[in-house]
Amino acid sequence: MLLSRHCPVCRRPARSVCGPCLAALPRWAPQGAWSGPRVAELGLDRFSALYAYEPPVARLILAAKNGGRHDLLAVLGQALAHDLLSGGVTGGRTRHQNGAGSGIDVVAWVPASRRHARRRGYDQGRELALAVARPLGLRARPLLRRTGREAQAGRNRVDRLVGPSVQVRCRHAPARVLLVDDVATTGASLARAAASLRAAGTRSVHAAVVAAVP
Ligand SMILES: [Zn+2]
Repeated sequence: MLLSRHCPVCRRPARSVCGPCLAALPRWAPQGAWSGPRVAELGLDRFSALYAYEPPVARLILAAKNGGRHDLLAVLGQALAHDLLSGGVTGGRTRHQNGAGSGIDVVAWVPASRRHARRRGYDQGRELALAVARPLGLRARPLLRRTGREAQAGRNRVDRLVGPSVQVRCRHAPARVLLVDDVATTGASLARAAASLRAAGTRSVHAAVVAAVP
């Protein structure tokens, strides 16, 4: 089965996205719509994205979500983790050696709708969170669950701006959460998740996505 694998960007035989294609993906540069005030408005302490959601990145993410290529989530998650590490994000164990705000207690993710997860056989947010957590020396925990039935993509624009309904599974959420998702479009899903976490006791939410829509 591995023999039939190819890089989704250049189509050459490869076990996952190949090194040169990964290195050439368009990096995210923070822009107006994702400025500090907007990030605060979404209820986030920090927001980071690795790539701009442009064609080669979109192709990778769609292949990961709908094409059964969850190997890509491991590669993208690892790349995101290394970007966070180089940006000063650290796991809880090293928090005393670092400045305030850079430490994280646990990695969580915005859960896929049950319908989507069932169709794919996996929850892409969970796979991504596991791949991000490992290099950071952190654990990924299923802190959130969906409460609504509808999938984000099938809803109208107003509903998408509000984001899916999510609930915290536990009574007390960890203080500093790294919230991971694949794509940030309006930030609505992240905002909903951050609000739920804060209501359960989280004090700091750093959202990190593989790609953001400029
Ligand atoms: Zn390639």
